[in-house]
Amino acid sequence: MGHDKLQKTKGLLAVFTGNGKGKTTGSLGLAFRALGHGQKVCIIQFIKGSWKYGELESAKVFSPLLDFHVMGRGFTWNSDDLERDKEVALEAWEFAKKIIREDNYSLVILDELTYLPHYKILDEAELLSVFAARPKEQHIVVTGRYASDELIALADLVTEMVEVKHPFKSGVKAQKGFEF
Ligand code: ATP
Ligand code: MG
Repeated sequence: MGHDKLQKTKGLLAVFTGNGKGKTTGSLGLAFRALGHGQKVCIIQFIKGSWKYGELESAKVFSPLLDFHVMGRGFTWNSDDLERDKEVALEAWEFAKKIIREDNYSLVILDELTYLPHYKILDEAELLSVFAARPKEQHIVVTGRYASDELIALADLVTEMVEVKHPFKSGVKAQKGFEF
């Protein structure tokens, strides 16, 4: 690959998927890095509760460079109102599309978005077309399990978190500053 190609500025589509820990926190690491350059970051959380107390408090420190939006409801599989869950999830997606289109952020993190197409709440083709048409220099990070083959094919960077060991498995409860 020639040097010219390597120096080209390009917004990246990144996907952090898999069953191991590190998808959301990995994306927060990227946010931390971008903020250090004075770049604006927008984080949209599609599943309520996936953002923990620690990061919600830290996020305030980075205002107004960092904007975060908690938009989803609970997990659909133990919901009391599935239709309402879907409605809220689709509203969050509409909001995400607007954020992407307006191009006011260097980095847009769509936390736990993969569950929407996985549970057929959102059409996969629609999601792919929005990502394919994203602003040229905007980075987008999608986190969540079950990333589809099509999303993986479209992305520039895909990391699968593989669970090798997790303290939950040996009965260690969630530790402050590490899990929440
Ligand atoms: P994190 O937010 O810690 O980066 P994640 O985004 O990779 O985790 P999610 O699938 O969003 O993982 O899971 C949300 C919660 O479940 C987190 O508190 C995370 O620590 C925990 N978790 C993640 N992977 C595992 C696992 N393999 N076993 C048990 N709990 C896990
Ligand atoms: Mg997560």
